[in-house]
Amino acid sequence: MKLGIHLSIEHIIDELPILCTTYKLDCFQFFTKSPRRWSQKLIDESTAITFKKNMQNQNINPQNAFIHCSYLINPANPTSKTYSELEYELENAYRLGIYNLVLHPGSCKDSDCLEKASNTIKHILKQYPNINLLLENTTRIGSTLEDLKILKEKIGENVFYCIDTCHLFVTGYILDVDIIDKILNIDNIKLWHLNDSKAAFGSKLDRHEKLGKGLIGFENIKKLLRLPKIQNASFILETPGTNATRSKEIQILRKYL
Ligand SMILES: [Zn+2]
Repeated sequence: MKLGIHLSIEHIIDELPILCTTYKLDCFQFFTKSPRRWSQKLIDESTAITFKKNMQNQNINPQNAFIHCSYLINPANPTSKTYSELEYELENAYRLGIYNLVLHPGSCKDSDCLEKASNTIKHILKQYPNINLLLENTTRIGSTLEDLKILKEKIGENVFYCIDTCHLFVTGYILDVDIIDKILNIDNIKLWHLNDSKAAFGSKLDRHEKLGKGLIGFENIKKLLRLPKIQNASFILETPGTNATRSKEIQILRKYL
């Protein structure tokens, strides 16, 4: 099992591999830009070169780094901005030599949401055959695991899952890996977002909490992490706080595994 955190980019991107070592992480996730602003920003060549050099120097396998796409991208209701922003995300991943990109499937009110989302994603993804797209369960599309499964089937190759424990809880799923395995096939879950929840079971409110401080509780999280079935996956904390507090949570967690 690989344990890591979402590294916020108050630091510049090319320093992230060094932070990964400083905080003793097995893996890390980051945004390449502000996730709540349309920025259409491409990584420049010198940043990409330094990032890749630092990855090598710190001995980090690129498979242990994950980029989270902007929250504004809504594949289910695509505008030209969605297409270009998603393309920029994939291009940035390509430039940085990162193969795993986490994406929220979006939201829409029509009956053909899944069709629209899969068409948008398929269209962009085929231009980047080396990049894996990790579809995340959210409180919108993907609030049912069956939706994620249908999306993966419709999009085709290079699609995996990222399962967020907080999102599972607030969309009414208990942390039962056998149920999740039955629907998604556990081997397709490359990444877990390991978050406790401030909001109630089934509330559909997305409020992350520190591990053990929320309504999922430390015991359930420990139980999940000890399951033999999920030992090949990566786990990223997106809990409230800073890079330093999140990495402290990882150190505490390791003591119980
Ligand atoms: Zn997410």
